[in-house]
Amino acid sequence: MSYSLLVVCYIAASALFILSLGGLSKQETARRGNLNGIIGMVLAIVVTAVGTNLAGAANVSGTGFAVLAASIIPGALIGAFLASRVAMTSMPELVAMLHSFVGLAAVLVGIASYISPTEHLTGTEHTIHAIEIFIGVFVGAITFTGSIIAFLKLKGSIGGKPLLLPGRHLLNLLMVLGSCFLGYLFLFGAPADGLTWLLVMTGIACVIGVHMVMAIGGADMPVVVSMLNSYSGWAASAAGFMLSNDLLIVTGALVGSSGAILSYIMCEAMNRSFISVIMGGFGSDGGAPAAGGGQPIEGEITEISADETVELLRDAKSVIVVPGYGMAVAQAQHTVSEIAKHLRSKRVKFRFAIHPVAGRLPGHMNVLLAEANVPYDIVLEMEEINEDFPETDVVLVIGANDIVNPSAEDDPSSPIAGMPVLQVWKSGTVIVMKRGRGTGYAGVENPLFFKENTRMLYGDAKKTVDGLLGKLRE
Ligand code: NDP
Repeated sequence: MSYSLLVVCYIAASALFILSLGGLSKQETARRGNLNGIIGMVLAIVVTAVGTNLAGAANVSGTGFAVLAASIIPGALIGAFLASRVAMTSMPELVAMLHSFVGLAAVLVGIASYISPTEHLTGTEHTIHAIEIFIGVFVGAITFTGSIIAFLKLKGSIGGKPLLLPGRHLLNLLMVLGSCFLGYLFLFGAPADGLTWLLVMTGIACVIGVHMVMAIGGADMPVVVSMLNSYSGWAASAAGFMLSNDLLIVTGALVGSSGAILSYIMCEAMNRSFISVIMGGFGSDGGAPAAGGGQPIEGEITEISADETVELLRDAKSVIVVPGYGMAVAQAQHTVSEIAKHLRSKRVKFRFAIHPVAGRLPGHMNVLLAEANVPYDIVLEMEEINEDFPETDVVLVIGANDIVNPSAEDDPSSPIAGMPVLQVWKSGTVIVMKRGRGTGYAGVENPLFFKENTRMLYGDAKKTVDGLLGKLRE
């Protein structure tokens, strides 16, 4: 393959990735966006494989292809098998795990290109290449261990409670300064010791990754997932510099910058400071740890039956559904969509209110509702619908908890204080469907359940909404 054809293909793949990101920003175009991404990635892999094997290495191309096939085919099969089996609710764990692979790849590429340089660079070029390696390995190692901790936290193997070591910011600072010093030794010290400094820095960066994510509390995990997404992009971009691969540089930069923008949007949505979250452990200074913080709750819990709920829905002129993680677990979205259809046919103003961090994945609820063919125009974001609750007769909170917790607004000592929430308690009646007294992901008690206009409809969300739909149709 000629170099110019390789460049043309790389430009085409980059354009497809940009189109993919553009498409993924809207539900209507998300499928096309995904398809563009797939085509771009296939093109990128094929062209890189063919280009690398034929450029100046024709005599070993057969071996090169065999090695590539031996690593890509099993990897692709394992990836396809795992991704096809993963439940939607476990998607963030998978994403965190995949980020850790990108981090590990950047570390391995960096160390390999230091041990066995393919080009014999001298002078400034050599220094620049060494800086690329050092930064790439640093970012890659943080991404690697940070993503593993995020995976374990999302899976529930490590509790959501933040690990708050005394003087942790100072510790982080010392580790970063130590890494900078090692960078100085790596660049300007004796070449024979270079590998040692690189490996010591890799160990320190691994500790930074663990410490940074361990210090983050349950409710801030969405930001961590998107932040690690961004880190993995920069790690890939750094690997692109090390390998002198323009497409990897561009693709990594696209992932890195879009992840950073998503982290910023999530921070805005949760009223968190971007810098503080990046530094680790925001909102934990002096505040109560995730589980159990906050003021004692007054009032009593009132239950409601399915029959009474159906009566309220029949009398309502306007209804809002707030879906949450529990709806995803119960897979209740299809029945909820049928309820929406039924009530809309009775001229009820029926809408869905989506909180930016509902579920366990950015856009989790939008994906579920799209899958259940809910029309996009009745699915509204928090800022579009929050003011409409006072004029709403009935709100159905289906498997949601943290995103409708009023203590975020009323209780400064709450671990989720300051996070914007859906103000469902301002409506006529709130019906909360959940299985029991379980808390949400942040582990915080919810005063909403004790409010006078709140009724609890206990049970698995799918069974409950199935029952409601049956009765509504009678
Ligand atoms: P929550 O995790 O706060 O609450 C879910 C509720 O669903 C629980 O209280 C549980 O109560 C109930 N539930 C679980 N299973 C069922 C079921 N089968 N049927 C009925 N109810 C069920 O979810 P939210 O969506 O309100 O909030 C999301 C939380 O996750 C936030 O804290 C957010 O920060 C965090 N997060 C979000 C991410 C994202 O990107 N969106 C990523 C990582 C974390 P019970 O056990 O009593 O049934």
